[in-house]
Amino acid sequence: MTFKATVLTLYPDMFPGPLGQSLSGRAHENGLWQLETSQIREFATDKHRSVDDTPAGGGAGMVLRADILAKAIDAATGEGDQRPRILMSPRGKPFTQAKAHELAEGPGAIIVCGRFEGVDQRVIDGRDLEEISIGDYILSGGEIGAITMLDAIVRLIPGVMGNMESADTESFETGLLEHPHYTRPAEFEGRGIPEVLTSGNHKRIAEWRQSEAERLTMERRPDLWRRYIDGQEEV
Ligand code: SAH
Repeated sequence: MTFKATVLTLYPDMFPGPLGQSLSGRAHENGLWQLETSQIREFATDKHRSVDDTPAGGGAGMVLRADILAKAIDAATGEGDQRPRILMSPRGKPFTQAKAHELAEGPGAIIVCGRFEGVDQRVIDGRDLEEISIGDYILSGGEIGAITMLDAIVRLIPGVMGNMESADTESFETGLLEHPHYTRPAEFEGRGIPEVLTSGNHKRIAEWRQSEAERLTMERRPDLWRRYIDGQEEV
């Protein structure tokens, strides 16, 4: 089973975009994941091929029509398609590393990219769309959110990353932010490398990395730190 993403968008030319480069691009070439786009406008019915209309109740902006979007979703959904249907939405559940793992282990995703003021609520309800947000800010459309989410998912698909060990200690995997990194040269503008890292003592190195990860998390992300501490107490 290969992870397959189908992205419904008014701007298919935005894809694969950055997903065609580097790690995800190579993985795509090697057939480790698939990406297709569907142009929502192809499902419009009037001669102007319009996909949006004014909001019921009045107010600013335009809303993506439920009937047109539903047709696009139905066309993207194959026979017995088990893929979750996701709507990129600032009102959604925040996307996390845990969600990236969950999706990477599944068959793929159908991802709807909103535009304008958003989409008609009836298509969210009628097609059981799971709303996911990539953060507390407003983008002009769902495409960059979809790319962000797919980038995080694809690197977790087995075989995509060469050194899976490097993934295990990464920020959010352990519940902590990752420790700082250093490499050559040994001295840069008068700054050296912490002595412990050149000591060859693997136990001390592991202890230093753990304590740095804890210090950074405590200082920068009290929310993560609280959850980490609570998790430790439960064990
Ligand atoms: N009026 C809406 C914002 C619409 S922005 C509101 O106030 O909630 C237009 C589209 O961009 C949305 O439908 C969604 O698909 C996408 N989008 C904007 N910000 C996003 C975010 N933080 N996460 C995911 N998608 C987002």
